Amino acid sequence: MGNTTSIAARRDCLVSAVGPAHVTFQDALLYQTTAVDPYNLNVPVTPAAVTYPQSAEEIAAVVKCAAEYDYNAQDRSGGHSFSNYGMTLALDEKTAPSRSIWSSFSQFYMDESTFVASIGPGITLGNLDTELYNAGSRAMAHGICPTILTVGGLGPTARQWGLALDHIEEVEVVLANSSIDRHGVQSAHAGGTWSGRSIFIHVQPGDSCAEGEACQGLEGIYSPGDLSWNFYSNLVVFDGQIILEGIFFGSKEEYDELDLEKKFPTSEPGTVLVRTDWLGMIGHGLEETILKVVGDTPTWFYATSLGFTPDTLIPDSAIDGLVDYIHKTNAGTLAWFVALSLEDGAINAVSEDATAYSHRDVLFWFQVFVVNPLGPISQTTYDFINGLYGVLVQALPESAGHGYLGCPACVLV
Ligand SMILES: Cc1cc2nc3c(=O)[nH]c(=O)nc-3n(C[C@H](O)[C@H](O)[C@H](O)COP(=O)(O)OP(=O)(O)OC[C@H]3O[C@@H](n4cnc5c(N)ncnc54)[C@H](O)[C@@H]3O)c2cc1C
Repeated sequence: MGNTTSIAARRDCLVSAVGPAHVTFQDALLYQTTAVDPYNLNVPVTPAAVTYPQSAEEIAAVVKCAAEYDYNAQDRSGGHSFSNYGMTLALDEKTAPSRSIWSSFSQFYMDESTFVASIGPGITLGNLDTELYNAGSRAMAHGICPTILTVGGLGPTARQWGLALDHIEEVEVVLANSSIDRHGVQSAHAGGTWSGRSIFIHVQPGDSCAEGEACQGLEGIYSPGDLSWNFYSNLVVFDGQIILEGIFFGSKEEYDELDLEKKFPTSEPGTVLVRTDWLGMIGHGLEETILKVVGDTPTWFYATSLGFTPDTLIPDSAIDGLVDYIHKTNAGTLAWFVALSLEDGAINAVSEDATAYSHRDVLFWFQVFVVNPLGPISQTTYDFINGLYGVLVQALPESAGHGYLGCPACVLV
């Protein structure tokens, strides 16, 4: 930590950057709950200050203070980083970071002649969906949680439209040298940008969809092939249960042509539900269940992920090993699940060096989540999750460390 004079000078700098009403310091009453508000309670964080800039110029002034007084600065949009990265990152020993919250940057504007929308980084996905839909029945690909925004944005429409990232035309940013700049998406990715003020996205027409749920029979889905990009699927393993669900974007007739249900020889063939309202599809069944487990309320949780490509498919022996491990190992909790999410399609049609997302070869992600609403994750549970991960890595050593950056292993921070 610096000396008292430099700490006072840093405070003065932040106060003059955003005004006294828009900055909170560590010594404020109820600082953790009212200002820091960490999402993963398993990862304690204490930023030196929290700022609430109201304009790009104020963001630039905060960045300038950070550079001048040797702060690590970190921004926050939805605040759902698994490791609370929106609050703190890579603390050096000398200083604690400050953080800026973009809640004042929730603007939305649609240019209906081009269908390019301009959005602020503080807008949540849920509000973005509603705004887009109301502006000419438009939509874009993104993840399932309505209160987040940034990072890759894998979700139900990614196989047909790509990642949320792939919709970005241009970003307005404040650079580390505190200048305000605009970048086309390619140069923005290369440029090590610090924080976005406005994001310009192209959008797609929202459409009707048919949703199918079924169990067992993964052939032709979690393996390379010519499965329609309009079909998205998740396999979720809970304690004692496996659910395979999918969404087909198109008409019921087109869905029937895929003949998927014949591929699932099961006594419980599941249901097909046809939805014709776009916003209704966005909050559909399984995603809601997942969000209830790893939802919006801050809690103690741990997650990790592994990506599998057409060249690193999970061998049958490892699947047997996984099932055996789940049967025999004490998880220390019932509140865990594994999700295998099908990717590929339009995501992988973008070349690997075009954006910062470096997993364009991933066919499906294996993600494990565990939650404890009552307190820190126990060692038994860490061991269970790490053992699950270990079974796969042992079978496919080349997959080790190949995790989704939106779902990093978040315990060691
Ligand atoms: C319940 C839940 C469901 C999820 N589902 C999905 C899913 O379906 N698909 C998917 O892809 N991911 C999913 N994720 C992962 C999610 O994408 C990441 O956790 C993401 O980081 C959350 O974005 P945020 O805006 O809430 O993050 P924040 O915590 O606000 O920020 C995340 C990171 O981005 C940086 N950042 C934030 N704002 C800015 C800015 N304006 N400029 C520059 N950097 C910035 C932060 O400093 C931090 O490092 C899910 C997460 C949760 C908790």
